[in-house]
Amino acid sequence: REQIGKLSLLIDTADTLLGGGIETQSITEFYGEFGSGKSQITHQLCVNVQLPKDNGGLHGRAIFIDTEDTFRPDRIDDMVRGLPDEVIQATMIDRGIDGDVDDAAALNELVDHVLNHIHVAKGFNSAHQILLSEKARELAGKYADTEWPVQVICVDSLTAHFRAEYIGRGKLAERQQKLNKHLHDLIQLANLHNTAIVVTNQVSSNPDSFFGDPTQPIGGHILGHSSTVRIYLRKSKGNKRIVRLVDAPNLPDGEAVIRIVEPGLKS
Ligand code: ATP
Repeated sequence: REQIGKLSLLIDTADTLLGGGIETQSITEFYGEFGSGKSQITHQLCVNVQLPKDNGGLHGRAIFIDTEDTFRPDRIDDMVRGLPDEVIQATMIDRGIDGDVDDAAALNELVDHVLNHIHVAKGFNSAHQILLSEKARELAGKYADTEWPVQVICVDSLTAHFRAEYIGRGKLAERQQKLNKHLHDLIQLANLHNTAIVVTNQVSSNPDSFFGDPTQPIGGHILGHSSTVRIYLRKSKGNKRIVRLVDAPNLPDGEAVIRIVEPGLKS
């Protein structure tokens, strides 16, 4: 078994909370209400995963399964330019880009390079979303032994299509079964390719993480508790958001404050 990789948010308090970052070989679920920053986090992770390992990244590419049409290339552009200068410099060197942070052409080249290492696929319904996770597996296989392996797969949103398609209590069991299967496929993929899986899940004011849904069997039957980390995102004043780790098996519960600003997620 390969060593577990840690993908940093580049925010000290949040990274410490997570025990160093988002882990490969596991599923991390970000859940919270609309506007809590779930999509912003997935964008930031698609950037950070590409950074050199010494700079908090995994020197890998990203797959973004986009089910609600939330992916914004412009936001990736902001976030690349918003990286700390020394990280930009190291990333340019890592990619053989000549120039520095003050060189507009070099910065543009870096942004293009990063965008070219994010594979975006739009999922139109739950069946298509499941199909895309199979395609993701093929893509991860294709790049496995290359310089830029797939190191993070984001599914934003994991649950929206399932919620929209399986309505009412009568459909709850079927919905849960389909979602469990989908998650089971994703965790296999995470283990097979030593990849981080990051999923988002919108919840209303009464927070019920998918994994912690009180109407469901505790912990679910398929996914071991050890393979999932749940993070609750809550709005605070202005651009501030509270990141809360919930029931993590090997980490103390706790919170960190982050801000969503033009250059990305910051302390
Ligand atoms: P939903 O469940 O509705 O998809 P979400 O949790 O995914 O919501 P995001 O889209 O990640 O929420 O976050 C939206 C928030 O991000 C907005 O409230 C806004 O404050 C902030 N945001 C987005 N783009 C920028 C930007 N360019 N500069 C500063 N803040 C931004």
